[in-house]
Amino acid sequence: MREDLQPQVQQFTARAGRPPGLALVLVGDDPASHVYVGSKRTHGTEVGFRVDLHQKPATSSLDDVLDLVRSLNADESIDGILVQSPLPAAMGGDAARRVFEAIDPGKDVDGFTAENVGRLVQNRDCLVACTPAGIIEMMERAGIAIAGQRAVVIGRSDIVGKPMALLLLHRHATVTIAHSKTPDLPAVAREADILVAAIGRAGFVTPDFVKPGAVVIDVGMNRVSAEADVVAFFGEGSKRHLAWQQRGSVLMGDVHPRVADVAGALTPVPGGVGPLTIAMLMRNTLTAGQRRTRPQT
Ligand code: NAP
Repeated sequence: MREDLQPQVQQFTARAGRPPGLALVLVGDDPASHVYVGSKRTHGTEVGFRVDLHQKPATSSLDDVLDLVRSLNADESIDGILVQSPLPAAMGGDAARRVFEAIDPGKDVDGFTAENVGRLVQNRDCLVACTPAGIIEMMERAGIAIAGQRAVVIGRSDIVGKPMALLLLHRHATVTIAHSKTPDLPAVAREADILVAAIGRAGFVTPDFVKPGAVVIDVGMNRVSAEADVVAFFGEGSKRHLAWQQRGSVLMGDVHPRVADVAGALTPVPGGVGPLTIAMLMRNTLTAGQRRTRPQT
């Protein structure tokens, strides 16, 4: 996907007289957010984007962040705006929603505004949340059939579970959305030809959740620090155990490693949905830029 993007970025730059512009807004000191934003910045720069990082202290007020978003909305050289979540808790429970809503829908490369979500529900052209959009792209590129399949999405967040379910539905899967109140979750999950785990609990999806041969997409990104857990998941002396000995923690998904014995296909963590999400962010930013700079007819 990155290779596909590069010539398109060059064409855009030649036509528009400037590279596609992506503004990343990072508020506070969340270590994981710093890593994610750093990665987005590096990849964006590598494919030829201009990437501006706006860092704000954790003590920033909601108005400070809203002012920044409004100024980025007005900046003609910026095509995409991404506000990294979570925002500091001190900004208030509905801060993220208010900030996302302030983003110009044409620059909403995360696809979080009500306008883009509404258009997604109606299956109309829009900017779609990067993680679920990337998962569809991956399945299509891998030749995995979606139409007519039973899909189960575990997780109903606005940024992953719900848009994932809608994208699968629009491609004619029969979709179930499961969550923490779903009774007998393993039995529900076992109905799936395509199982998407977006939960945020390390190794939660065990082999008894998986129909043999099912496609399993692991969205979860969980840091596991306890050695006993690392050994229980990956085995004594395994590569991950050795990595834990060096770093004191390892990253793993929501899917238990033993699911590899049952699934027909399985995305790895790390190295699966994470990098795909970043590639999709770049695609969305280029698309937003192309729409904004398209000559009027
Ligand atoms: P979230 O907002 O916390 O939502 C988690 C969902 O999982 C909720 O709908 C919750 O159900 C459900 N859940 C929690 N415990 C459950 C249980 N015991 N049984 C069944 N369902 C349960 O999380 P998110 O933002 O969607 O992210 C999910 C995971 O994906 C996290 O690990 C996150 O780090 C990762 N992620 C990765 C990427 C990437 O680029 N790879 C992007 C985004 C997110 P309720 O609604 O009932 O509480």
